Amino acid sequence: MLDSARSNRGQEGGSGREVSAAELARQQEFTALLRELLADRYPDPAVPPKALVRTFGCQGNEADGERIRGMLCAAGYELTDTPEEASLILYNTCAVREHAEDRAFGNVGRLKSLRQGKKDLRVGLCGCMVQQPHAAQKIRDSFSFVDLVFGTHAIHRLPELLYRLLSSGRRVFDLAEEPGRIAEGLPVRRESGFRAWLPIMYGCDNFCSYCVVPLVRGRERGRRPELIIREARELMEAGYKEITLLGQNVNSYRCGDYDFPRLLRELDEIGGEYWLRFMTSHPKDCSPALLDTMATGRHIAKHLHLPVQSGSDRVLREMNRGYDAARYLDVASYARQVMPGLSMTSDVIVGFPGETYEDFRDTLALVARMEYTSLFTFLYSPREGTRAAALPDPVPRAEKVRWFQELTALQEGIAARRGAESVGRELRVLCEGRGKRQALAGRSEGSVVVEFDGPEELIEQFADVRVTKAQNWLLDGALVQDL
Ligand code: SAH
Ligand code: SF4
Repeated sequence: MLDSARSNRGQEGGSGREVSAAELARQQEFTALLRELLADRYPDPAVPPKALVRTFGCQGNEADGERIRGMLCAAGYELTDTPEEASLILYNTCAVREHAEDRAFGNVGRLKSLRQGKKDLRVGLCGCMVQQPHAAQKIRDSFSFVDLVFGTHAIHRLPELLYRLLSSGRRVFDLAEEPGRIAEGLPVRRESGFRAWLPIMYGCDNFCSYCVVPLVRGRERGRRPELIIREARELMEAGYKEITLLGQNVNSYRCGDYDFPRLLRELDEIGGEYWLRFMTSHPKDCSPALLDTMATGRHIAKHLHLPVQSGSDRVLREMNRGYDAARYLDVASYARQVMPGLSMTSDVIVGFPGETYEDFRDTLALVARMEYTSLFTFLYSPREGTRAAALPDPVPRAEKVRWFQELTALQEGIAARRGAESVGRELRVLCEGRGKRQALAGRSEGSVVVEFDGPEELIEQFADVRVTKAQNWLLDGALVQDL
């Protein structure tokens, strides 16, 4: 694990969209108070207070989790993965589908007896799920052993909230409803020493009719480009090999004179050996300028995750996606024209309210045509407060599950064929760790996992491998040795 530099510290908020420097300084005072309080309660340096932070959901949540860990370490906690040794357990939750919520409640429910048996243990919940009024109410009413609850807009206030909890012993809730601001300069404790998440924007303005994200994350707001570029530079200086730029719709990034292609170009020019990735791209804003930038970039991975959601124009309209299937296919065809060999991946929702089998067949046809490298398929899940949740939804779940299986079988066939075609090809991979079938596992520029034999020193390094065998989407390779 690598404790990255505290980036962007001390910047004055350039706009009202940022949490003010005065507010951040106030939180630093609470960090100092918390440190004193913890030093008092845990005087033996051999037995420091430990915190367990577990994040569910998307990469944006992972990035928040790394800031939460950073703030806790600054306050004197050590991190642990063992609930029994923790004096603080914090679950950073997701709300995008009901399943994520059920899992969070199931997991936290299992902490009840631990919390009751361990005097100093405090349990907290934060993130998207708790930002929804119905979930917050459920915690208030039925999870009385949960001590601390804070929403997505309150992350930077963690030192204050935790101090209030520990000094008073009373439950603390902070679920402010805000359009959303950006907290720059929070300390970060990164999960990986070679792969980093770099948020470039927060929130979302698209209001896809099924999606809870705009309701729980607030309005779209971009970080200042100079701060993003500085953070990227620091990461590269610290030896990071892969940086993934994060936002709900990175294509609509705009701050001052910068749009996303310009930001990407400047990040590409930093120099060194690294891959730049980004997610998520919204098809309605995926411009030729962006695809040209990708095509000419030396460090920009030739992988485009472009969620289509449905192949039916009628369903896409109901989803409020802002494009139709023909426009999506045009964007994809231009992308493949300027980047032959481009790896494309996507998300699809099966069983949107009112979707018919005919609509679904349009999705099958689009997926067959697109030949994605991989596809993330989700059964539609109604989310309280969204427009789609109020629509009639007559198709039984069992029927939707059959469609779902038909789609995954189609994609498996495509992935198997693409895998077989890649045998004999040479791929550059970033080696991520040990493999399951062979010594090492790496991920290609197109985000395909390849396992191969090689020395451990290659872990966290780039390597060139030749694909020797494909089994569905699982690839085996052999190191290409320099002669
Ligand atoms: N901002 C990104 C994705 C955010 S959520 C984008 O627009 O592409 C990640 C994925 O979860 C979405 O692409 C969608 O496929 C899925 N998803 C979101 N809301 C959902 C819901 N209510 N039911 C099922 N899947 C959903
Ligand atoms: Fe949700 Fe649509 Fe925004 Fe993505 S673009 S986060 S799917 S509202």
